[in-house]
This record gives sequence, C-alpha cells and structure tokens, in this order.
Amino acid sequence: MENLSAKQFKRNFVDTFPGDSSGDLHPRQTPGMLYSKAVPTAVRKPELIAWSAELADSLGIAEPNSDDIQVLGGNLVTPTMYPYAACYAGHQFGNWAGQLGDGRAITLGEWENPNGNTWELQLKGAGPTAYSRRADGRAVLRSSVREYLMSEAMHHLGVPTTRALALVTTGEMVTRDMFYDGRAADEPGAIVMRTAPSFLRFGNFEMLAARNEIDNLTQLVNWTIERFYPHLNGEDKVLHWFGEVVERTATMIVEWQRVGFVHGVMNTDNMSVLGLTIDYGPYSFLDNYDPDFTPNTTDLPGKRYAFGKQANIAYWNLSRLANALIPLISDKDQLESELRKYEDFYWAKYYAMMADKLGMDGIYNEDDVRLLAEFEQVLATIQPDMTIFYQLLIDLPTSLATAEDVVNFFRSSFYGEPDPTEVAQLYTLIKSYQARLRANTCTREDSVLRMKKANPRFILRNYLLHMAIEELQRGENTLFLKLQQALKDPYSRSHDEFFTIRPGWATQQAGCSMLSCSS
Ligand code: AMP
Ligand code: MG
Repeated sequence: MENLSAKQFKRNFVDTFPGDSSGDLHPRQTPGMLYSKAVPTAVRKPELIAWSAELADSLGIAEPNSDDIQVLGGNLVTPTMYPYAACYAGHQFGNWAGQLGDGRAITLGEWENPNGNTWELQLKGAGPTAYSRRADGRAVLRSSVREYLMSEAMHHLGVPTTRALALVTTGEMVTRDMFYDGRAADEPGAIVMRTAPSFLRFGNFEMLAARNEIDNLTQLVNWTIERFYPHLNGEDKVLHWFGEVVERTATMIVEWQRVGFVHGVMNTDNMSVLGLTIDYGPYSFLDNYDPDFTPNTTDLPGKRYAFGKQANIAYWNLSRLANALIPLISDKDQLESELRKYEDFYWAKYYAMMADKLGMDGIYNEDDVRLLAEFEQVLATIQPDMTIFYQLLIDLPTSLATAEDVVNFFRSSFYGEPDPTEVAQLYTLIKSYQARLRANTCTREDSVLRMKKANPRFILRNYLLHMAIEELQRGENTLFLKLQQALKDPYSRSHDEFFTIRPGWATQQAGCSMLSCSS
C-alpha cells in the first residue's frame, strides 16, 4: 500500500504527446496539443467526506493521511505528478461543438498498481484549466455526491464504468444558477477523485481529425491500442480496434438498458473509447418504465438522450468516431462494415440480457422475440416501476388465475391504476410468459437464479440522492452512508427499506426526476 502523496507517479501520456506546458489557465484554443498543464487551484479547507476503501485496496492505495487529503483537495501536487487537462472536442446534441477539453477535470498522474496496470487519477472540480471557457472549473457538492455514489453503484451493478476513489468538500462556496433562471445561489464546493485506466473519449480523436493533425491522430490511436487493446496488432489493427470499441459500446448500452440507467448527456465527448460509463451529470435510473424519459432538462425539446434512444445514439456517436478514423484507414468500406456490426452485437447482447431478466433459457424463435416486444409494449403503456416489476416477476406464482389476481400481484409496482384495457394486456402478457417459462429446458431454480443476477433490487434513485444531498448540506451523513452501503449489494434483499416506488412528492421536485446540467 502506498500513499497518494508519497507515490512515484507515471506520466506516459504527457511524455508521449505534445502538450502546452506553460501552465497558463486562461481559456484558449490549443492547436497541436493533446493536453495543457493545469495546476489545481488551492482550496481553503479540504475535508474527506467519502473514501472507496475496496477500490483503494485493489489499486494498492493506502488510507489517506493529512497530506493525501491535501492532494485530494488540489492543494498538494507532488514532484512526480504532472497535472494536466486533456484537449478534446465533440458533438453535443448532434452538432459539432469544436474544442471542449477538460474544463474542470485535472489528471494528476498515472498510478501503477502492484500488477503493473496503470490508472489515471483525476480531480474533478479542482479549478480552471485552459479549457474552462466561461466557467469556473469547480463542482458543487450536489453533483460531486452524484458522481461519486453513482460510479460506485454502477460498478457494483456490474456495468462498465469509471470509478470514484474519494470525495472531499473544499470549505468554499460555488455559485450556480441551478434552474438557469437568473437566480444564482451559493452552494458548497466539492472535488471527486475519479479513476479509470483512461478517460480518453471519442472526442479526443475527433479533435485531431478535425484539426487535420494526422500524425497526432495516428500516434494517439497506436498508443491507445498498445496500452488498452494490446492483443491487437498487424496491418488492420486500427480497423479491428474500432470494431472492439463498437462491441464494447454495445455491451455498455445493453447493460444500461438492463438496469434502467439513462445517461442524459450522450455527447461524443462523454463516450469512452474503453466502453466505460463516463461523466455522470443529469443521469437517472428509470422509476416508472418510460422509454421516452430523459432526465436532462436541456434535452427536453427533442429528448435525444431518452432511455429508449440510447442504443441508436450510441450508434450515431460511433459513426462520428469512425469518421475521425477515416484518414487512418485506406478501405472505407471495411470501416463502414465494422460500424454496421453494431446492430448485430447489440441485438445479440440485448436478447441474451432480456432472456436473463425474464428467466428464459434463451431467445429461440420469432415467438420469443414477439414476447419481448410485448413486454416492452405493455411496460411502456402501464409504466410500472421497472425495478419493482422485475423483482415481482422473479416471485411470480403459477397460481394467478384471473386478470385481477395478476393486477393485484403487481400492484406495488404501479404509479397509477391501470385501465381495463391495460389490465387485459398485462393478463395476456403474463399468461404467454408463463407458457413460455414452461418450455424452458433449464430448471425453475436455474431460471430464478438467472433473474436474480440480472435484476437489481436496489437502485440509486434520484430522490434518494436528493435527500442524501440535502442532509449532507445540513452536515448530516446518515442517509449518505446507508446508500453507500446499499449500493455495494444491489442484488440482495438486505436493503429493502429502499424497496418502494418513488414517492409522490418527488415527481415534480427538481433533482428528483429531472435535473439541469448545472453542476
Ligand atoms: P459535460 O456535459 O458535463 O460533460 O461538460 C461539457 C464541457 O463543459 C466539458 O468540456 C466540461 O469540461 C465543461 N464544463 C462543465 N462544467 C464546467 C465548469 N464548472 N467549469 C469549467 N468547465 C466545465
Ligand atoms: Mg463531459
């Protein structure tokens, strides 16, 4: 175990690529550069609010001492660290946005763990960088708690994600206009230390292609492959690498659909080339099953990033990455065909995932596919609580004889009373489903086991986060600690105090259903 403040950090990325080492924090364009040096701006009083002990153990990071807490607050940069903000671009809400870059994330260095893997350690909210544009480079407690808890929750759900190691408050206030209505208010500031093998995004590659920096682009692709896809080599390695990014992205999205996660801001600067869920902003789990739900108030007019659109958006984002790789690939048709494989990957993974969720031993024929479509349609119509509905389904008795029995059985998952047509639909669906379960070749026990592994029982709902954040802002951490514990064991019944639908008061409350990007 080594301390953050005593560690010899690696700095392979900054040593490999051209960067602006001036340390100038004024906003600007940085052509020719993949990063700009950015020393964190010191804060008044960093205080440790949360520490991910298991994650730290797995990386060989010792419990933080007082110097380490200064590192977490951005007040101490040790000699082997090279703090920098990465330069990337991106498509936001479907439009080319040009250079964006890490406006409030600063990578301190690469932590090499005992088995030789390196993890980028990054502070989010540690002050301005060359890419902060008109903003302050800071983060509020509200959004930092959301990123900290949710990255860990996703990890424990088994969804590929970046991780969060620590959360500190800064002892300073940050001004935010949460509702974008001119009523700015001060909120407590905070910093998350997050980590991943790499935070490289589609947008890092798009930036270099847009600037026609083909040498840099080639070098970045080669570096990414060598470090994170080392099994790929040979003439077609870029093509095969893209194919693997396509597959990993499909896996990630299917996992989101499994647990009911809506990212909310699937811009290409928020898409990891390692297939990790990255940049937790106005995300949400689905409460009521509404495929058209987007948690992001900025996304409201078009609902581009709604739950049911995530699979298509990921494909569109991958097409932007493909576009950036054109200069490196002689045969465009092959690139196109790698991109098109997304659909096959997606559906194969989606069917396997849905089979597990429903306890079916496979999706065998057109009838099975029709049954999935029927589930989708009935759930989208009745809109029961997604998590509770699937939990009830695990315990579905064979004895339910009438439509009324079926409705009563699922009642605790409903947000409203289903009308007679909906009742009839649900009854028909459940009868077809039970008939299909009887055709399973696996045992009932196997089927139940599959369902228990695929269906979370505890999800980190927005209203719970909202309540925990309000408490923390009052200096109390009871709910925060409970949630931190519950998210480690999301498939068990040990946290059933949270096993209820979203309460009525939370439906209209800001931060409980819809969120703004202000963070
Ligand atoms: P996001 O949609 O949160 O991923 O952010 C989009 C872009 O805005 C990224 O380049 C961020 O670094 C930048 N950004 C967001 N919030 C801030 C902030 N408070 N200060 C500086 N840059 C920010
Ligand atoms: Mg982002």
